[in-house]
Formats: sequence, C-alpha cells, structure tokens
Amino acid sequence: MKLIRFGQPGKENPGIQLPNGKRIDVSAFGEDYTEQFFGSNGLSRLRHWLEGHQETCPEIAPDTRLGPCIARPSKIVCIGLNYAAHAAESGMAAPSEPVIFFKASSSLCGPNDPVIIPKGGEKTDWEVELAVIIEKKASYVPEAEAMDYVAGYALHNDYSERSFQLERGGQWVKGKSCDSFAPLGPFLATKDEVPDPHNLELWLKVNGELMQNSNTADFIFNIPHLVSYVSHFMALLPGDVISTGTPFGVGLGLTPPRYLKPGDIVELGIDGLGTAHQEAIGYEAFIASKPQER
Ligand code: ZN
Repeated sequence: MKLIRFGQPGKENPGIQLPNGKRIDVSAFGEDYTEQFFGSNGLSRLRHWLEGHQETCPEIAPDTRLGPCIARPSKIVCIGLNYAAHAAESGMAAPSEPVIFFKASSSLCGPNDPVIIPKGGEKTDWEVELAVIIEKKASYVPEAEAMDYVAGYALHNDYSERSFQLERGGQWVKGKSCDSFAPLGPFLATKDEVPDPHNLELWLKVNGELMQNSNTADFIFNIPHLVSYVSHFMALLPGDVISTGTPFGVGLGLTPPRYLKPGDIVELGIDGLGTAHQEAIGYEAFIASKPQER
C-alpha cells in the first residue's frame, strides 16, 4: 500500500495512492496515520477494510495538496554521515558508530510545500534521504529482528540551515528543526512494496541541475543495524521516523558552497518512492503571505 495524507496543513485526511496512480480518500476508515494507528496493527486493518470499501472511496482531485504521509510522530531521528563520500565532502571521518541527532517533529511538512529559509538563515541546504517509518514499539531490538519493526519507507529532504547547525555552538538540532525542514512523502510505501531498500537510486536537483545522485547500496550502516542501534538508546514508537542519512552532493560540499535562494526549485526522488518538489521562500515573504503562521 501507498499511504498519503491530503488537504490543508494541519487538517489533512488519510488517503491511499492506488497502483494505477489514482488517489482515494479513506477518511471513512476513521483513522489518521498516527502512532495509535501504526501501533494497533493499523496497516493490516486498513488493508482488510479496503477489500470491502475501496470501490466506494471518493477519488481525490489530482491538484489537491499532499500533506506529510504520516501524522506528526513522537520523533524524527536522523543519521549523520551514513554515506562514505558525503562524510568526506563534509570534512569528517566515516563514523565507527552511527551519528544520531534529532529534527523537531514540528518541522514535518508536505512533500511539495515551500521550504522556508529561516529568519537570519543564509545557508539553507538540501539532503535527499530514505526515511524509515517504524510500525511497533522497538526497544533493545536485535539486528536480526529489526525489520519486523519497520512499517515502510518514504522520501525525505532533511533540510539544514548550516549556519545554525555548525556556527552557533553545540548540537546539530538547531540547524535541522525549522518549520518546513522535513518534507515527507509523497507517500509511505509499506515495506512489501520495496523488496530491497538497500538498492534504491536517490537523486536531487536544484533548478534542474543534478546535485545528488547515489544509491542506498552505499550506506555505511544498513537499515536493520540502524533500527537496532537507535533502539538501544531510546524506545522507537509506532510512526517514528529514522532518516538514514544523505549521500554526496550537498551545497556545503561544493567549492564554493552553494545554498538556496528564494525562488530556487528543489526536486528529488527515490526509486519506488515517488518524487517531490519544493520552492524556496524567504521567511519574511512567507509570513507576508500567511500572517496567521507567525
Ligand atoms: Zn541528513
């Protein structure tokens, strides 16, 4: 199954993207894609419900806004430097253990929403990533069982304001958590739809120019290792996100570095997980267009 959410920000409804590309409204199922949904066997309950109800679900107009493909999770855990070539371009050694950090869950947004360059930000950068969504509570999970805890996968852009991340002291979270810095989707593909998550092409373009183009085969730490590893430091809850790190080709790694300007268009995709696009907008311009968001 491919799970989508659609409608106005904060008021999204659940839907399904069918194999033929049509999107249908499954609000009648009565549950959003929350921690409660994933943790109560929601995927198999929804699959079963669809068998009897799919024909009666309304189709969603193609131009409808997509929200993030899951409701706000308890946490977004990110893996740093999980591709050797990206570690090198960042001037850092390949880690001997996974580097982990958080993004605020409030940074979550729809896959095609604008990316807001934060107030005072001048080094907003892109990071195409494969996101793993957790299905059931995972605590001290052995690597051999880790895939049993995975609901599925989604396309993620781990936006980063490098000046906040690297020049303002302390931990990376400041540069990772601004509103709109975690566009997730277009859809969550359940894991049965992705036979080999360790062989997926992923790419990102800025204004049509290919900046990142790699394959998850280049992971330093694979998905079972990451799920198991993180679960030894915190409980992963249903619906939580682990973003598995970005490959070579971020703006920080260019000579000279290149960062987003208002009007820039970022497009990205992963094999089998769809594509997304985000237009960069300055904070002041965003607020002028949406004063209620201040
Ligand atoms: Zn990242």
